[in-house]
Amino acid sequence: MVFRGWHKVSYIEYPGRIATVLFVAGCNFRCPFCHNPELVLQKDGLPVIEEDEVFSYLVKRRGLLDAVCITGGEPLLYSQECQSFLQKVKGLGYLVKVDTNGSFFEEFTALWDWVDLWGIDFKVPLNQYHLVGGGEKKESVQKVLEKALSHPDRVEIRTTIYPPFHNLETLRTMARTIQDARVWYWQNFHREKNLSQEARDVTPYSASFLKFLQDTINKEIGRDFVVLRL
Ligand code: SF4
Repeated sequence: MVFRGWHKVSYIEYPGRIATVLFVAGCNFRCPFCHNPELVLQKDGLPVIEEDEVFSYLVKRRGLLDAVCITGGEPLLYSQECQSFLQKVKGLGYLVKVDTNGSFFEEFTALWDWVDLWGIDFKVPLNQYHLVGGGEKKESVQKVLEKALSHPDRVEIRTTIYPPFHNLETLRTMARTIQDARVWYWQNFHREKNLSQEARDVTPYSASFLKFLQDTINKEIGRDFVVLRL
């Protein structure tokens, strides 16, 4: 498997664990707020990190690192290579986290047993996936969420709050879809580096308005459901 980016040590990517984070390039979605546009659009200009280099690092760091996270881009575009990579990673005793936009249900199911924790991006209400370039993928996203929600301890569901797409009504609709999740992580949109030009003119919600949205959804769900990661 070939990677195009690598954060060798992360204290935040795998909850409570020290992880190394590998990035694949390429994505089938076009979220305007995407903050990794180079991984989506310019993959040929990025460095190539071969598996051998990663494994030699992982062998040396056994006992110092706990987990390997694969993100992107969309990792499930490479599900077959991913499976053989993860088998070897698990063989070294590491925990594994894989992020996905939820658009490849069969590949998600095939990899399910190899992954300890899934990071699933829930972008917009299911009937609005065309906004992120995934209109034809909404059934897959729905099935991925359903499978994930039947194992809530093995998934993190996350949403980037982007003002043109998210208001109280859309967030209510999304909350109803995933109300069986343990928590729903929100991260605020940042406009430093985005996939679309329009996104660079969008003002993120203020911390106080996000808190109002969070409190309203939490009250309606009846527990501390939304967690902000600002
Ligand atoms: S934010 Fe959207 S476009 Fe960017 S990598 Fe994730 S799914 Fe792809």
